[in-house]
Amino acid sequence: MQLHRFISAAVILLGKMRCSAMSKRWFQWNIDLNSFNHGRWLWPAVLVLFSTYATAQTQYEIRITQPEHHVADIQMQFTADNAGPLALRLPAWRSGKYQILDLANGVRYLKVMDAQGKPLSVEKSDGHTWQVDVKQAGALTVTYQIYANQLDSRVRHIDETHAYINASGYLLYTDALRLAPVRVQLHVPSAWRSVSGMSQGENPHQFVAANYDVLADSPIESGIHEAYKFEVGQRQYELVIWGQGNFNGETMAKDLATLVQQADFIWPQPRPYQRYVFIVHATDQARGATEHLNSTVIQKQRFSFANRAGYLEFLSTASHELVHTWNVKAYRPSELVPYNYAAPNYSRLLWVSEGSTSYFQNILLLKGGLMTPKEYYQDLAKRIVRFGQLPGAQVQSVAESSFDSWISLAGDHADNFSVNIYSEGYMASWLLDHDMLSASALKSGYRHLHQQLYSRFGKTTAFTASDMQSIAKDLTGHDFSAWWQQHIEAPLRMEPSKLLQSAGLELKVPSKQKASTGISSQFKDGVESVNKVRRDSAAWRAGLTSDDQIIAVNALQLKAPLKERLTDFKPGDKINLSFFRQGRLQHTELELAGEPDGEVQIVPVAKPTKAQRQFHLAWLGIPLPDAADKTSK
Ligand SMILES: [Zn+2]
Repeated sequence: MQLHRFISAAVILLGKMRCSAMSKRWFQWNIDLNSFNHGRWLWPAVLVLFSTYATAQTQYEIRITQPEHHVADIQMQFTADNAGPLALRLPAWRSGKYQILDLANGVRYLKVMDAQGKPLSVEKSDGHTWQVDVKQAGALTVTYQIYANQLDSRVRHIDETHAYINASGYLLYTDALRLAPVRVQLHVPSAWRSVSGMSQGENPHQFVAANYDVLADSPIESGIHEAYKFEVGQRQYELVIWGQGNFNGETMAKDLATLVQQADFIWPQPRPYQRYVFIVHATDQARGATEHLNSTVIQKQRFSFANRAGYLEFLSTASHELVHTWNVKAYRPSELVPYNYAAPNYSRLLWVSEGSTSYFQNILLLKGGLMTPKEYYQDLAKRIVRFGQLPGAQVQSVAESSFDSWISLAGDHADNFSVNIYSEGYMASWLLDHDMLSASALKSGYRHLHQQLYSRFGKTTAFTASDMQSIAKDLTGHDFSAWWQQHIEAPLRMEPSKLLQSAGLELKVPSKQKASTGISSQFKDGVESVNKVRRDSAAWRAGLTSDDQIIAVNALQLKAPLKERLTDFKPGDKINLSFFRQGRLQHTELELAGEPDGEVQIVPVAKPTKAQRQFHLAWLGIPLPDAADKTSK
């Protein structure tokens, strides 16, 4: 069944290629369908690639014989140059997720044998390090088993339909050989096909990489259900999908081909990759995405692709991950170069890595016509509203938030006393873009700064905050060091409406107000469960807190979500709330506040000046839409 779908997809693309009038060149699968049926593949480039890494100094084998039990048997072979203690390590985290994940918790049955097959003594010295007592220099074989059942962390997942392999969660390394060539051989069920951003080795399930860092940043997906290939600007792309859902792979591949071209708007050629792989997991629960060296894995709920909002979210995520190929892979904060796999890599610049990536992601979609100006403005308006309401924005700077990413907060405390590097980093990036454009008479904006980061640091990878400030100065002639202290090292102060005004846009806030409390909550079975209470909001003043369970308003049982019940009241009204806290019934009086009744919108001003039109074009790369154009397409 899966094989059938896979072949169908290939055939669809073949047909597409023959009758195509598209500017992009579509490629058929590089396989002979008859060979495929017999498990044999044609991979002409394989031998050339293989010879590049023929001297792999660490060789791994990953055997998946009981996928239903989520396990892989690993064998690692290498040569120890000296006798004495030798550390075998597994990363404590994986790139792209700045949190300690304790990945060694999936390792069991670990054994080390010498060249004669004699077991050596092994002892753990910390949570993710095994010390081996090597008696004499020579070949060593390490064997162990990995339990891989953590789909949502995007590190390791094995079941009877596929294996997702991020080496950080599977493969040990040694300090001495971390920078030496590696080879990975998979042994997987015969119907599975394996794909990775790494180069293919001597067979379809073998991959080679220049070193462990490349391996750890090039996940392997094996057991794919649908796959597409395309070429844009002499770079090869693949879209591989695991799982079923309401997506149209062909449309996705076509839109991704449009997307990848848009990166030229920020970074002129050449690209940091020859080949790029989009791995998509259409799943039941897991959602999120992770960037890698020349690939990404995007997890999305299987039935969330068909409607416009869900599909746009997919494209926006794909764009985010593509932007990362430059911003965090080609160049990244110096504290993360090289990665220290054993401990947090604290940096005050993760807002650039994540927030600026978020900032650029929709600009690329807009530029490529994959998102309409109206949709772009809608997203920006939501961000502005959130920024205005977020109490944490008064407390924490984006630099502090970057540093604290490794101890990421959640729940009530997060929004009230901290900001996140994504959304706040987006706003800081927008302000920097605006202020650079203004200071340079529209000659250079934030994307030009990223162009320079790539051209100056693309080879060494590492950059610092002072590098960014000196580039900003070079590009605009304006000193941004005071700006940096004011907006990056201190809680961000900005007036979004002024930024919009420069580009001929304005915020349209509904004049009508509706009653609000300041809580975010969920209603189920007559109980409104409070997730968060915004600091200094009406609910905060009434003494409500997270995990309170509201059951009645004015002594009458809640039969519908609180939001619906509040439509009977207006701002300024006082209501009595009854709620359980830790199982004890309590009551409080709450004076309702007001919030706009309807969507806050961004619209073009009625009569934009020439300067505003020029600003819009320099900022987003598209002309300011006509205010009279109601469709704003
Ligand atoms: Zn990201």
